[in-house]
Order: sequence, then structure tokens, then C-alpha cells
Amino acid sequence: MSYKNVTIAGSGVLGSQIAFQTAFFGFNVTVYDINDAAIEHAKQLFAKHKETYAAYFKDEARAQQAFESLNYSTDLAEAVKDADLIVEAVPERMDIKKGFYEQLAQVAPEKTVFASNSSTMLPSQFAEFTGRPEKFLALHFANEIWHNNTAEIMGHPGTDAQYAEQVVEFAREIGMIPFHLHKEQPGYILNSLLVPFLDAGMQLWAKGVADPETIDKNWMIATGAPRGPFAILDVVGMETPYNLNLAKAAAGIPGTKEIAEKLKTEYIDQGKMGINAGEGFYKY
Ligand code: NAD
Repeated sequence: MSYKNVTIAGSGVLGSQIAFQTAFFGFNVTVYDINDAAIEHAKQLFAKHKETYAAYFKDEARAQQAFESLNYSTDLAEAVKDADLIVEAVPERMDIKKGFYEQLAQVAPEKTVFASNSSTMLPSQFAEFTGRPEKFLALHFANEIWHNNTAEIMGHPGTDAQYAEQVVEFAREIGMIPFHLHKEQPGYILNSLLVPFLDAGMQLWAKGVADPETIDKNWMIATGAPRGPFAILDVVGMETPYNLNLAKAAAGIPGTKEIAEKLKTEYIDQGKMGINAGEGFYKY
């Protein structure tokens, strides 16, 4: 094993999954969050993950052991004092991530490698705040990591290749399929493909070319894919495409205002938020 002690910073949706997955595969995991309320919330998520992992891996004892092995801290220096690796999953906001890395740089041991799970930001945006740009890179997971087990590893130009290799190895050791990108790319591989694909589907719909079901059906029959863009959007949920199209509309990108408006009036306002709500473009 390349690492032994792993600290996960931020224990929300993704951080809690990364922490549980890492503990489930035998690493010593410390969960760091900003206050006791956040840790309490995380413990509720871990209780759910325990059930999910027990069922998915058909191993209750191992899930229980992972659950019990987790350590918690709201003191960053304490949380990282023995860390070989820290995976950052704090909110997707520049000010929060910058503040976090500046604080981390003061307290982390020299050996610690820093990895960010950011979905939309690039490691080069934070490298200077880490105090150790050569040991800093992105390690990006997908939601529901126990079965959507891709890990995208992406350095910035100043990342030392040996640490990227270690993180690739670590990702493999926790049951991920690692994808090592050769250079920085906003959206990594997955979202570089998926976002334009979903946008193209929504544009056809917003322009009135065809309805969602027809667009999906065309794609599925012609390519053999199991789902079309609208079935995927139901899994993502309406909030993310709505916010993205709103931001693009504000930047004056043609066609995006219409998409945002249709998503809002025809789906969000009616509670049709996607698969988790029981209805989105399809009924579940
Ligand atoms: P979230 O809001 O569910 O969780 C964020 C956690 O960070 C919370 O527990 C919060 O208390 C904590 N936090 C806030 N400020 C902090 C600080 N200064 N130090 C430590 N912890 C702090 O967010 P999320 O959805 O888990 O996203 C976290 C990161 O993971 C983001 O960078 C996001 O882009 C990325 N990500 C999310 C998903 C997803 O599907 N949600 C998928 C891949 C990557």
C-alpha cells in the first residue's frame, strides 16, 4: 500500500462516500469537518453508507468494521497530523477552498499529499495556496462511488509525477478504476463529454425539434446506448442543468435562456426534479 493514513476534509455528499469507501478498503481514515453539527450530519450519512455497503458488497461485518473504524475531528492540525494523503471535498467555492488550503499548508506534515475532489475547478487555481504544489493534484470521484467507481487523477503543470502515480495506486487500492489525465482539462474526461451531450439534447428539446422521449429513443437505437440524455438528466436532477444554463444565459450564450426557462416552468416548479423525486422527464 502506498498510503496508510488518509484524511478526508469535508464530510458532505461526496466526502462521506470517499471516507467510507477508503475505510472499507482498510485504510485508517480521519474525517475532518468544520464543526460538531457537520460531524453529526456526517455520522448520519455514514450510518446510511454502512447499510448501502453491507448490501452492495454483501458483507455486513466489513461494513460495520469500516463504520466503527472512522475517526473524527474538527481540528485541522489534529486531523492531518499523521496523514499520508488528504482528500479535500469542501464546498465548490473558490473562497472556501482557498482558505482551506492556506490553513492546511500551515499544519500538514511535509509528507502529506493533497488531492482535491473539485468537479469544476482546476488544481492550478489552488496550487500556490497549498505551499507544496509538487504534492498537489485532483482526485475526482463520481457520486455513489461504490458502484460508479471511476477516479480521475489530474495534476497541474507543477505536480511531481511520482505523487500522481501514488494517487493512481491509492485509487486502485480503494476499488476505483483510475483514469490518469495527461494534462489539466476543465470537466476532466467524463464531464467534457457528458455536459456538451446533455446540452445538445436540451437544445433540440428547447428549439422544439423533438420531445425528450423521442430524442432519447433516437440516440439509444442508433448507438446501442442504454440511456439517452434525458434519462441521464433525471439521474443528475434538474438543479444542476438549470443553474448551468442560467449561468450560460447570463454570459449571453444563445439558446441557454430558453432551456433554463423550460426546465424551471415545466419541471422544477412542478416538483419534477428527477429520479429521486419520482418524476422528471420520466416517471419512476
Ligand atoms: P457538500 O456541501 O455536500 O459537503 C461539503 C462539506 O464540506 C460539508 O460537510 C461542510 O460542512 C464542509 N465544509 C465547509 N467548509 C469547510 C472547510 N472550510 N473545511 C472543511 N470542511 C468544510 O458538498 P459535496 O457535494 O460533497 O461537494 C464537495 C466537493 O466534491 C466539491 O468540490 C464538489 O465539486 C465535489 N464533487 C461533488 C459531487 C457530487 O455529486 N455532489 C461529485 C463529484 C465531486
